[in-house]
Amino acid sequence: LLNFLRTFPLALPTSLCFWLQGLGANGIRLTMESALTARDRVGVQDFVLLENFTSEAAFIENLRKRFKENLIYTYIGSVLVSVNPYKELEIYTKQNMERYRGVSFYEVSPHLYAIADNSYRSLRTERKDQCILISGESGAGKTEATKKILQYYAVTCPASQQVETVKDRLLQSNPVLEAFGNAKTLRNDNSSRFGKYMDVQFDYRGAPVGGHILNYLLEKSRVVHQNHGERNFHIFYQLLEGGEEDLLRRLGLEKNPQQYHYLVKGHCARVSSINDKNEWKIMRRALSVISFNDSEVEDLLSIVASVLHLGNVQFAADEQGNAQVTTENQIKYLARLLAVDGSVLRDALIHKKIIAKGEELVSPLNLEQAAYARDALAKAIYGRTFSWLVNKVNKSLAYKASWRSTTVLGLLDIYGFEVFQHNSFEQFCINYCNEKLQQLFIELTLKSEQEEYESEGIAWEPVQYFNNKIICDLVEEKFKGIISILDEECLRPGDATDMTFLEKLEETVKNHPHFLTHKLADQKTRKSLGREEFRLSHYAGDVTYSVAGFLDKNNDLLFRNLKETMCNSENPIINQCFDRTELTDKKRPETAATQFKNSLSKLMEILMSKEPSYIRCMKPNDAKQADRFDEVLIRHQVKYLGLMENLRVRRAGFAYRRKYEVFLQRYKSLCPETWPTWDGRPYDGVAVLVKHLGYKPEEYKMGRTKIFIRFPKTLFATEDALEV
Ligand code: ATP
Ligand code: MG
Repeated sequence: LLNFLRTFPLALPTSLCFWLQGLGANGIRLTMESALTARDRVGVQDFVLLENFTSEAAFIENLRKRFKENLIYTYIGSVLVSVNPYKELEIYTKQNMERYRGVSFYEVSPHLYAIADNSYRSLRTERKDQCILISGESGAGKTEATKKILQYYAVTCPASQQVETVKDRLLQSNPVLEAFGNAKTLRNDNSSRFGKYMDVQFDYRGAPVGGHILNYLLEKSRVVHQNHGERNFHIFYQLLEGGEEDLLRRLGLEKNPQQYHYLVKGHCARVSSINDKNEWKIMRRALSVISFNDSEVEDLLSIVASVLHLGNVQFAADEQGNAQVTTENQIKYLARLLAVDGSVLRDALIHKKIIAKGEELVSPLNLEQAAYARDALAKAIYGRTFSWLVNKVNKSLAYKASWRSTTVLGLLDIYGFEVFQHNSFEQFCINYCNEKLQQLFIELTLKSEQEEYESEGIAWEPVQYFNNKIICDLVEEKFKGIISILDEECLRPGDATDMTFLEKLEETVKNHPHFLTHKLADQKTRKSLGREEFRLSHYAGDVTYSVAGFLDKNNDLLFRNLKETMCNSENPIINQCFDRTELTDKKRPETAATQFKNSLSKLMEILMSKEPSYIRCMKPNDAKQADRFDEVLIRHQVKYLGLMENLRVRRAGFAYRRKYEVFLQRYKSLCPETWPTWDGRPYDGVAVLVKHLGYKPEEYKMGRTKIFIRFPKTLFATEDALEV
């Protein structure tokens, strides 16, 4: 029994689970003492059952208890909270997948599979599109969760030959996108450096028949620079480590990563947890699965190699201080790999061309400007190739009979709230994205709560909560939002700088309760703010952003002559990535922030049209170690994920609700005078039962199909009575 408890040791619902699995019927009953001990030891499997649900300490204690017992999953109602175990647990077996198939949420212990299965079943029975939103900070386990959910569907959904191909492609898109979009960072050896939303399409039989991926904000700056202890994107190391000699010769590459400027910035080309050679093989195989032919593979790898060569292009100043290329060899390789004219490329790297009043003006670049232009080109090439790759994956996942009706299940694996010592444009975008998701979450959670109350005929009691729309507006509002002001500065010719942007920001939003700068702060707070910083009070806490680099990153400019050179490339991928219309288009391209804002707004539309489920991932420590629960770190995440707010909303009314049949089935034995002879409606049965149990009117409400119980203690008392 104890062993069983260890595997599925759920306090109250464990025993519920026993009973539902028929064990209770076989006469196995926990004694009152052991039930209490179990609850004491392993906590509650649903936070709504915490007596002191407003206490953060109680919340964390419950997490800690469960984590210690390797119970990494806990619910807040239907939201799944997951703590990264940093070790392999035996809970992802096929056998376990089967346990969760078609089983109701509360019959089994909390698990990703329960969420996956539940969404899948709603999709099938109600034919309503679903989405699973996975959030959490870097290293918390979002990508692993996404992969495990996909595996669950691959194993449990109906199969056929055609479906097998789709399943394969869905699964194999991961190693490819991870090779190009993930990197080792200080927080995670396999950190996704882009946001990802993936739709899986299901046909009328519930078989996966297609898919589509949307990608968000790849961290392109990593291509040219990595912080100490971090790496560039995996693909570079995989290619050098795993690429066949022949291939490397064709690409003009040497095996040693130390040879490449873009790979040495972080001083850690090799990582013990990563086997680049192996990953290369997996990636290569995956490329074939998603229907790359040999020449496409060669074109793609030529681009990867060209980025390395580009990083090795060096300049020296001539007498006038103008940059000259000193590394002819690199230009030769670049010309071949990118299929462009070498001398045109060389010129483009050291000159700047602008068109003013219809006339072309060409001016030489100094050393610093040339290095900047080179890096901008590397980032543009890599970033666009990544988008091309996503497109290519999408083509291979496209549902061939798209005229047939399908239902869709979306998986969102996107960066969580980020606060570093130094926060820049990237954190600003990421945290804005999280504000939007939080807003959606609150709206949808409240909406679904309200809908359930209404459909059950129970009066809705308004919930007090913090509506973060005010912060979303501060960032995205037309004309006076931060992004608008940033764009305005980016478009302003002349002397616009990061600091003029900050000044304009101060002028426009000076009285906003969620915005602060050095100048606007009072004496006391001022000390904590630099002159080049602004602070936003996010729903998850304050973040101070340094404006340095905001204009540059938002502009994301590539000099015109470099663009022209790339448009003339005969490498088919580059050619598709750099479109001629960019050169003739009079309109300025959208800035990075505006592009992001627009893609987020589309994402919100997509998510709004679906029924959401949530997985909130947390990491237990910064050392990536098993069995270590760092309370301070966890507390931060509980805050940033808005879990207490989540619990408050969920607990605002009633802690527990169950269908009358289920409730009656479980507890009728507590009223032996009436049962087993009772033969009325479940509603009336429950009414008799709760009266017999002495429930006070304020403790519960009777809905149309469910009983709603306000406090966990009422339920625990009933549950404990069962065990005596
Ligand atoms: P990022 O935002 O940086 O992409 P992430 O949230 O996607 O982070 P993952 O890459 O999913 O994080 O997880 C980081 C590492 O933690 C994994 O490589 C794996 O070693 C470990 N890990 C995550 N989830 C689990 C799990 N359920 N079981 C065992 N190990 C896990
Ligand atoms: Mg990830």
